[in-house]
Amino acid sequence: SDRALFILHDQLNLAVFPRDLLDRKPILIFVESLAYATSIPHHKQKLVYILSTQRHFAISCYQKGFLIVNLFAEGAYADALEEFLIRYPNIELTYMQPSEWDTRSQMARLANIFGKRIKALPNQFFIADVEKFKPKIKKGYRLETFYRELRKQTGYLMQDGKPIGGNWNYDKENRKALPKQIVIPEIPEIKPDPITQEVIELVQKYLPNTFGKVDKFIYAVTRDRVLELAQLFVETRLSRFGAYEDAIKVGEPFLFHSVLSIYLNNGLLLPREICEMAIAAYEKELAPLNSVEGFVRQILGWREYIRIYYEAKMPDVRESNYFGFDNHLPQFYWDANTDLLCLKDAITQVLNYGYSHHIQRLMILSNFSNLINTDPRHLNRWFWLAYVDAYEWVELPNVLGMSTFADGGILASKPYVSGGNYINKMSNSCSQCKYNVKEKTGETACPFNYLYWNFVDKHRESFTENGRVSLMVNAYDKKTEDEKQEIHLSASKFINGIKYAPLIS
Ligand code: FAD
Repeated sequence: SDRALFILHDQLNLAVFPRDLLDRKPILIFVESLAYATSIPHHKQKLVYILSTQRHFAISCYQKGFLIVNLFAEGAYADALEEFLIRYPNIELTYMQPSEWDTRSQMARLANIFGKRIKALPNQFFIADVEKFKPKIKKGYRLETFYRELRKQTGYLMQDGKPIGGNWNYDKENRKALPKQIVIPEIPEIKPDPITQEVIELVQKYLPNTFGKVDKFIYAVTRDRVLELAQLFVETRLSRFGAYEDAIKVGEPFLFHSVLSIYLNNGLLLPREICEMAIAAYEKELAPLNSVEGFVRQILGWREYIRIYYEAKMPDVRESNYFGFDNHLPQFYWDANTDLLCLKDAITQVLNYGYSHHIQRLMILSNFSNLINTDPRHLNRWFWLAYVDAYEWVELPNVLGMSTFADGGILASKPYVSGGNYINKMSNSCSQCKYNVKEKTGETACPFNYLYWNFVDKHRESFTENGRVSLMVNAYDKKTEDEKQEIHLSASKFINGIKYAPLIS
């Protein structure tokens, strides 16, 4: 019999597949599935990215001497593979466990049909051991505990069993606003090559109604280029990553962020590689500890933790809606047509690049959606389709666990909501906005202000931690009756006045 290896679109790295299997030169099977591409109206650039990187990767494997089979399928991955296995009864198929739930179920179905002809390998794209950590995910098991265990396991930024610098965490040094005159290093825009160009035309022609724009596509599609971008990040932006991690500047989508999630999430870059590049920069004194530790924590801590959460909580977590919210998302999440500048800016970036950085995702887009009582499952779907780096295993825990409190506090200790003050402190958008961040209520006041207090009052139970009433609830209770009434009036007027979008099918 012949051995074949199916490689999914988010598993584009031979280094994690077993050596002895690759040495036997299996036929490598790739599938371009229309059903996957259209399962939700994914951002056009995400479709371009997935198709182009997969095609480039297949070609690079061919150049290494592998025989390649590229299947085009109307249906799902497993449908295409099923047909193939029926047609070629001598083939035995190996695959690596998919990161996303639905694809994993499909592959399990295939194993049911073909029995011993199918072999699954454990997913090797992550650092933490799923079986070890899965049982720990419950209320009260927070990132910090997990992260420290992983630091010990990997030895990253450790010396004699202790964290380098004496602290596990330098977050206090990482919340600076951006100085006005700071120069933001440019990220090179990679010019689409003929393969990418062809895919862009394909998407424009056949999937014109999906989310976002593709006039400009700046991302790398090969590992060589990705490694160059990673190196450039480490040399030019990592040193200030920590300090300005939470800052927002209108018209500047990338700031000092790595913009590497899209490459980490389909295997072109491995999490260990980028952590080790960052640590090497610290050792060479190219970047300070607060930046390097902060960056390593995002990947070794958050990214791994989020993935274990997904493994522990699926599939029930998909339906979570702790507050029982039932609003749709505003129409402007699709067209950026709003006067609220912080939202307009973030959504414009999402339309143009399929990207916005963490604080915009958390404290602008999710915060607002929560404050206007959006069903978190709608927001979840939006995040899944709108970002180039979005795969269910990573966006779902971030949306339903971290940013909306939809899971009732398993991942986060309290809802991430804030008023306009926070946004004003971290960004330059309030000073240019039509709304006044200093006003608390009324038509010209920043809606985040009254929406926030309205939320604190209505969902006060979610702000108690360790049995204690939060400072925010106390602060609300100290307001006068008139102020409270104004808050609720402004909030309901605003929420009722929004133009809501239809449900995403
Ligand atoms: P940087 O700021 O440079 O951070 C470095 C890396 O750390 C990222 O590339 C990413 O791999 C990792 N990381 C940081 N925070 C997280 C986190 N909370 N969860 C997982 N990884 C993290 N990330 C995705 O990769 N895909 C998503 O679909 C996604 N959806 C999100 C939705 C919401 C509501 C929120 C609040 C966060 C989401 N994130 C998601 C996490 C984070 O915002 C992005 O990873 C990050 O903004 C990507 O940009 P970057 O590569 O420039 O990150």
